[in-house]
This record gives sequence, structure tokens and C-alpha cells, in this order.
Amino acid sequence: MKAVQYTKVGNPPELREVDKPTPGPGEILLRVTASGLCHSDEVVMSYSAEQYPYPLPMTLGHEPAGVVEELGAGVTGVQIGDSVIVYGCWGCGVCRMCADGSENLCLTGMVSPGLGRDGAMAEFMLVDDVRHLVPIGDLDPVKAASLTDAALTPYQAIKKVLPKLVGGSSAVVIGAGGLGHVAIQLLRVLTPTRVIALDLGEEKLAFAAEMGAHEVLESKPEAADRIKESTDGRGADVVFDFVGIDATGDLALACVGVGGSVVLVGAGGGSARVSLLTAPYDAQVSTSLWGRRKELLELVDMAHRGEVSIQTVTYPLDDAVRAYSDLHEGKIRGRAVIVP
Ligand code: NAD
Ligand code: ZN
Repeated sequence: MKAVQYTKVGNPPELREVDKPTPGPGEILLRVTASGLCHSDEVVMSYSAEQYPYPLPMTLGHEPAGVVEELGAGVTGVQIGDSVIVYGCWGCGVCRMCADGSENLCLTGMVSPGLGRDGAMAEFMLVDDVRHLVPIGDLDPVKAASLTDAALTPYQAIKKVLPKLVGGSSAVVIGAGGLGHVAIQLLRVLTPTRVIALDLGEEKLAFAAEMGAHEVLESKPEAADRIKESTDGRGADVVFDFVGIDATGDLALACVGVGGSVVLVGAGGGSARVSLLTAPYDAQVSTSLWGRRKELLELVDMAHRGEVSIQTVTYPLDDAVRAYSDLHEGKIRGRAVIVP
């Protein structure tokens, strides 16, 4: 079968011919129907040999949708032909975090398809436990694949600070890309907050407005003054940073108000520098990693009701390498999705 693999640190991904996997006991073989491209793939491929934590070669893709093709011995609970998406946080299932449903925070270290195991940028993929499958019924797999990360990650980030997003509040979204464009939609559906989106360039800002942002601003230091103005000097109640470089960390802290929250989601390699004397008093800065399976079920329900809709740009598997280069160049509007 064809698969898009990361083969050597520093090289671009490659389309290769590999063996079709066979499901062992407890495993499920999916025929992949769609596979979203995440900026995190690029982050992983930017690691040095010392930093890179996964096996090589490794098939990329941690936003899978597929149809159940074959069941390994002992698998129950799904039928051949079921249309599913794959919850990507594969924890041990046993530790305290997993027991609480937070496999994304597994204390023994989670693995994920495309981030440690072979992922979904292929014609077929293995899933190591039936509990990672989430049925999607008649949802379009191309639209549903990225619910697993591009929607789940901002959904969890927003749910953590929901009590602050009351009537009259303001939320800032920095980076209206794959995750950010869903964050804007979710904020509009889940809260009465006023959404201010920051990105670079007219096209991205127009897209953010189309997704439901009340106000869009070029992402530069002066945006903080404008946000203070439009919030009667208070600053934003919550700032979500979906970029994660020093400039956006600084901007997030310049935008947030007293008692507000900054949620760091982007993995851009920078940081948000906080101290009692420079940050607004009682501001809370937290990180947020991916999400819980239960939240993915909630998102599937929301997608069925049309409350969240991922904007997709599709590529055939043969063009996946070009899709990664388009992502790198910032050409994607919403999420790039590979359709094998
Ligand atoms: P993306 O490339 O689809 O979107 C990034 C967006 O940020 C683009 O619209 C881009 O124009 C914009 N941008 C770039 N520089 C900017 C700046 N200085 N100011 C404002 N906007 C800027 O990426 P994505 O797939 O949405 O991922 C976003 C980040 O989140 C990545 O760093 C990714 O690795 C990370 N991520 C984290 C988690 C998590 O669990 N915490 C999960 C998935 C992705
Ligand atoms: Zn991701």
C-alpha cells in the first residue's frame, strides 16, 4: 500500500510503498477515508536528531477517519464497514489520568498514530484498541477527520476557561489556522463572548471574520492597544495562543486583563514570559494539550447538528508531500485533508 512517511530527520516526508498491516489480537485495521494534516507534524519534522523521539520510518497522520476493514482476534464493539474517526491519545488506560478519562495526560506517556506509531497518511492503518474508535455515522469523513485534533484541542482549551467567557466578556484567538478557525466557531457556539481574532495578512483575517470573529486584527504589538480600547481598558478575559512563538506569547500577555487567562496551545518553540510585576494581577497562564475522548464524542454530536464545521482543502495521497509544503508556506485555508 502507499504511505507518506517521515524517513530521516531533516528530510521532507516521502510517498512510499509499504506492506499493508495485519491486525493482531485486539487490533483493528481501518481503510483510511481521510487524514488531516496538523502543524504539529511540521513541528516534529523540525526536531534535531537529538530531540526527535519517535521511530523511523514512521507513517505520518494523527487525524484519521476510516472504515473498519478487518478485526483482530477478540475485538468486539465495532463491525466491519463502520465509519469511524480515531481518538489519537493512546494512553496506558490504567494510570490515574487515564482512569479519569484524560488519556491525553497519561502518566506513562501516551503514543499516537503518526506521533510514535504509524499514522493515517496511508491507504490502511492499525488501531491498537477499540476504545480509540469513535463512530461518526453518516458524517462526511473528510469533514470529520480533523475533529480529532483541530477541533478537540481548542474545544478542551475553551472548556477549561468557560466560566470566564460570560456575557460582556472578550476572547482573543491568536492564529486562525487549522485549530484557530475551529476555536472561533466553538467560542461563538458555546459562549456569548466577543471574539477578536489575530493573524497575519488580509486573507487570513477575512477568513477569521467569515468563521465568526467579531473583530479581526493584524497580529502585531499594537493590537494590544486596540484590544484594551475595545474592552474599556480591561483587556481580554481569555487569550488563546495557537502559534506559540515569543512574539505571540508577549502579545497574549499584553492583551489579557486582570484576572484573565492565557491558554498556550501552539508549539512554535517560544514562551510567554510571566512575572508578578509585569503580568496583569491574578492572570493565569496555562498550557492545554489535545483533549479527552468524551469531548470528541461531544464534538461529533455538534458536527451532526452543524454547530461546528471544519473548512477543508483536500489532496489525494499522491500529493501529500505537496500538501505539507503548502502548510509550511501558510497557504491552507482551514485544514488540509488527505483523501487516499
Ligand atoms: P496552522 O498552520 O494551520 O495555523 C497557524 C495559524 O497561525 C495560521 O493561520 C498562521 O497564519 C497563523 N500565524 C502564524 N504566525 C502568526 C503570528 N505571529 N501571529 C498570529 N498568527 C500567526 O497550524 P495548526 O495546525 O492550527 O497548529 C497551530 C499550533 O498548535 C502549532 O504550533 C501546532 O503544533 C500546535 N498544536 C498544539 C496542540 C496541542 O495539543 N497543544 C495540538 C495540535 C496542534
Ligand atoms: Zn495535532
